[in-house]
Amino acid sequence: MESSFNGDQVAIIAVTRKGVALGRRLKQVFTDCHLYLPKRFTAGQMPDEYIFLAPAKKVVQKAFAQCRYLVLIMAVGAAVRLLASELKGKHEDPGVVVIDDGGTFAVSLLSGHLGGANQMTRKVAAFLGAQPVITTASEVSGTIAIDLLGKEFGWQIEDGDSLTQVAASLVNGECVGIYQDAGETDWWHEDSPLPSNIRVFTSIEAFMEFHCQAALIITDRILDERPQPLPGGAVTYRPKSLVVGIGCNRNTEAMAIEEAVKRVFREHRLSIRSIRNIATIDMKKNETGLLEFARKYHLPIDYFNKETLSSVEFPSEPSATTLKHVGTPAVCEPAAILSSGNPSLVVPKLSFDQAVSVAVARVYFDSHKPAKRGRLFLVGLGPGAPEHMTFRAQEALKASDMVVGYKNYIKLAEPFIAAKEVRSTGMTEEIQRAEIAIESAQQGKTVSVVCGGDSGIYGMAGLVGELLHERGTTVDVEVVPGVPAMVASAALLGAPVTADSVSISLSDYLVPWNKIRQRLEVAAQADFVIVLYNPKSKKRQHQLAEARGIILQHRSPVTPVGIVTNACREGQRAVITNLQHLLDHEIDMNTTLIIGNSTTFTFYNWMVTPRGYLNKYRPSNEVPR
Ligand code: SAH
Repeated sequence: MESSFNGDQVAIIAVTRKGVALGRRLKQVFTDCHLYLPKRFTAGQMPDEYIFLAPAKKVVQKAFAQCRYLVLIMAVGAAVRLLASELKGKHEDPGVVVIDDGGTFAVSLLSGHLGGANQMTRKVAAFLGAQPVITTASEVSGTIAIDLLGKEFGWQIEDGDSLTQVAASLVNGECVGIYQDAGETDWWHEDSPLPSNIRVFTSIEAFMEFHCQAALIITDRILDERPQPLPGGAVTYRPKSLVVGIGCNRNTEAMAIEEAVKRVFREHRLSIRSIRNIATIDMKKNETGLLEFARKYHLPIDYFNKETLSSVEFPSEPSATTLKHVGTPAVCEPAAILSSGNPSLVVPKLSFDQAVSVAVARVYFDSHKPAKRGRLFLVGLGPGAPEHMTFRAQEALKASDMVVGYKNYIKLAEPFIAAKEVRSTGMTEEIQRAEIAIESAQQGKTVSVVCGGDSGIYGMAGLVGELLHERGTTVDVEVVPGVPAMVASAALLGAPVTADSVSISLSDYLVPWNKIRQRLEVAAQADFVIVLYNPKSKKRQHQLAEARGIILQHRSPVTPVGIVTNACREGQRAVITNLQHLLDHEIDMNTTLIIGNSTTFTFYNWMVTPRGYLNKYRPSNEVPR
């Protein structure tokens, strides 16, 4: 079927078999998108795919006239020849992105700004792990991408409604004012001038008097003033620029702390979104209410000992009671000063019900000495193939200064980490790897610790958590989830884990073998689907046979077993067998086994554990066993 285009969609046009496969992947990125492919490659055609009759000239011309974006999977030369006769001008032409059919480069070919091809190119490139090629002048000199402004520093956009409008003002060369009173100042490269339609203000009075079409406002304050009129709208960014020093009595409830902080922020017209972190005394490491409050707002805590706190000058009266109880005459003010690096406070100490005291400091940002706060990403890369890696994982890798991990996993991350500092270590150097990562993050680097699958499943997340706990440090940590081996393997087998399951690692490197045996025993007895991780390695051979023996005491020898090696990566192998024949198959340290429960059955090349629907709703319709 050849369709007519409906005006605001993305048309992906592919001309080769590889291109069609790439186009099919790419469809996931867009909501309103169709793939156009030559008749020869229609095997597996989906409802949102249309066939065109070769050559591609007609379909490309039609799409060019009617669609908002074209993604052409072909050589740039071919695209230029197909489009040459159609070009009208940058105000009319759709955005055109060209991708080679190997998915290596994504080129913003036409209408980079107004047509949105540059933005589209970045999106497509990020998804495919391709190199974006953008050649428009203001991009090269670096124009402001307003949806990305400050993202690397953790700035949050507060009112995004006017984003498109303000972006249009920027690219159309209309007058745009930027007001900034907080946050990192190195969001612009000093060596290239800002486009001439943009003016930056640090004085609110000057900004108010300036007549601009649209504005970007970077502040941690709730501004009462707004320049008038702003026909093009305004976007507010909340930088992470405030440190809240908190002192509290033992067992103060989270709610009381939250109320106190909220009140201070309300009364002093500050935005809670701009809190970078909390600062307090190290005696509060186990203060439940404070930890609960920090968790609720995802805030890291900086701890200082009493000697360090005592060494700082602070504005309020020293407190004899505080000195008596914790050994320093004040907590909230010196903690805020130390953590922010700014000796003067935005809000000096305020006490509430003699239980909580709060002080606020603004972080001092110096563009020559960026006060960048370190960040730690614990990235689950998924089973291996880039299409199974999440967007967030790719973003984290790209945002990182440094990537740490076991060398095989670094290999998986390679497409996203060109030119980054890489620390790869061997298999048994996990502690060293985690320590390098934590220390580098403390020094201000953004660090990704990479793991196969998910880092919370037999991965590094637990170890990093333990080390942070041991050190009493709270760097800013984000665990980025990944598709774990169990899920990737299950998908290749059909639906083997649809009911209750347990996963057991057969590695007795960190857990005594007796304990593992015990867990196997209980799981087998309770009729769980059992997922076996780490079944075998060169040094560990006997465990799997023993595990099988234990399970066989409770389950029939014909119980289905799925054996998956290298799921979703090179060397993928999936076999369905049963408990009796399990040991006849090749199994190694890249294998995951899924052992069915008493209801699991197989047919064709599927392994299915019924959830129970048919039994409940169609009891007469016996499911084959
Ligand atoms: N964090 C990982 C697990 C690490 S433990 C995750 O979430 O998947 C290492 C074990 O995981 C291996 O011994 C093997 O049992 C399993 N495994 C990891 N990747 C796999 C893959 N692609 N295919 C099959 N099993 C895999």
